[in-house]
Amino acid sequence: MNFADLGLSDELLKSVEASGYTEPTPIQAQAIPSVLMMRDLIGIAQTGTGKTASFVLPMIDILAHGRRRALMPRSLILEPTRELAAQVAENFEKYGKNHDLKMALLIGGVQMGDQVKALQDGVDVLIATPGRLMDLFERGKILLTGCNLLVIDEADRMLDMGFIPDIETICSKLPGNRQTLLFSATMPPPIKKLADKFLSNPKYIEVARPASNNTNIVQHKVRVSARGKREALRHLLKTDNVSTAIIFANRKTTVRELAKSLQQSGFSAGEIHGDMDQSARNAELQKFKDGVISILVASDVAARGLDVKGVSHVFNYDTPWHPDDYVHRIGRTGRAGATGRAFTFVADEDAEAIANVEKLIGGKIPLFEADGDAGRSDDAGPPAERPTGRGRSGAKRAAEPVAADPVAAESDAAAPSSKQPHQRRAPSRGGRTVQPVAAEPLADISSGDPVDAPEQVSAPVTAKPKQAAKPRRAAEPEAISDEWNGPVPGFLNVSAL
Ligand code: ADP
Ligand code: MG
Repeated sequence: MNFADLGLSDELLKSVEASGYTEPTPIQAQAIPSVLMMRDLIGIAQTGTGKTASFVLPMIDILAHGRRRALMPRSLILEPTRELAAQVAENFEKYGKNHDLKMALLIGGVQMGDQVKALQDGVDVLIATPGRLMDLFERGKILLTGCNLLVIDEADRMLDMGFIPDIETICSKLPGNRQTLLFSATMPPPIKKLADKFLSNPKYIEVARPASNNTNIVQHKVRVSARGKREALRHLLKTDNVSTAIIFANRKTTVRELAKSLQQSGFSAGEIHGDMDQSARNAELQKFKDGVISILVASDVAARGLDVKGVSHVFNYDTPWHPDDYVHRIGRTGRAGATGRAFTFVADEDAEAIANVEKLIGGKIPLFEADGDAGRSDDAGPPAERPTGRGRSGAKRAAEPVAADPVAAESDAAAPSSKQPHQRRAPSRGGRTVQPVAAEPLADISSGDPVDAPEQVSAPVTAKPKQAAKPRRAAEPEAISDEWNGPVPGFLNVSAL
């Protein structure tokens, strides 16, 4: 299948080609012809499967006919976060460069003046977050009666963020005979209800998760104590050949504190979370993109859907509360033949969350630990590649006071003298190894990427053409080799296989 078979115009095909896409993704192949035929559509596919272009491309051709009118946008795209809205805007700029289309972005955290001016002049595409749109609508700055095409993107995220009532209100302001497209990674009941209410006879497209074993992500869970997380993280950052990493935490405060602590330890780390204003988030993303920082500490909301991929490592400093977030988080690593590594820290308080994650992905995530003999735990699957740089663990472990660090007691090695009887035993033999979750189905598509050149973060708003990836600085700054001299917790003693 190629783009030329989908019914798109020649001008559009040119800009698609210029952007470097050679083949439509499955959701694009299925959605684009239906959208061009003006059908309502529900598109369900995981994050990273190319849903954006599946509506942006046909919309550009649809909007090529017709005229702009003041205050009355011709189409509306709703996005849950400002970053996602900005990314969609970038897509319009990139693919719409051969078309005369005007677009306005209505998102929180940026000055409204220019956007209101743009609206007054008339726009073809309005991209908005629900809150800001409602705000403007209520102040009479915008009329939605000329809006014949509505896209509700990332609907499951909208639900998580409490936007469904706003979306219902917005839907009711649009003409009844409009075309409506809804995209989501999952279809929980409230989204189904929304679709039933506001879409008419939609075409339903669901792209199954691709076969499980073509993923390039090596996953591990790491047993830690709540207090041992920072130390465990610093150690892995230094020893696991980390070149670029995203570290996810569940709470904004953790994101802030962790970024600060990593900086104090000499790592080039930045942060992104929901309390930062737009310009601060953009600045931080840009630094990550430029390789000024090599570690980004992030919250789920701030990072969700952002086009930040191809990092060497993802760390789940906390096990995510929503199992879906696990899939989204680890999908930031492993692409184009490069193996990514994902570590999930599991403290006692994460027990329920990890159980939910393993239920969702349908298997146990192999434990990353210190067992010098076997090199892996009972529930580990095929021998994971081990990080280089650490010798065999026996000597070190012997020298170490058993369970001096609460973390050490978690490992098999320290288990015989464990003073923490409540701790889990190693899961029983025969437990299934995690079926890799194919979190990055596009890994193969852009195989033109050099294996070691991670895709750069796309910078919201400024639609700079992508440049060849600059090599990023290694996560571990040269100057701090003596930064951490404490005993190596048993579970981190890794045998080099
Ligand atoms: P989703 O909305 O499904 O999470 P996006 O639309 O953000 O996914 O796309 C994810 C990534 O895949 C982006 O980096 C995008 O540029 C890339 N991409 C999309 N379509 C294609 C394609 N046909 N070929 C190669 N890369 C693509
Ligand atoms: Mg998307």
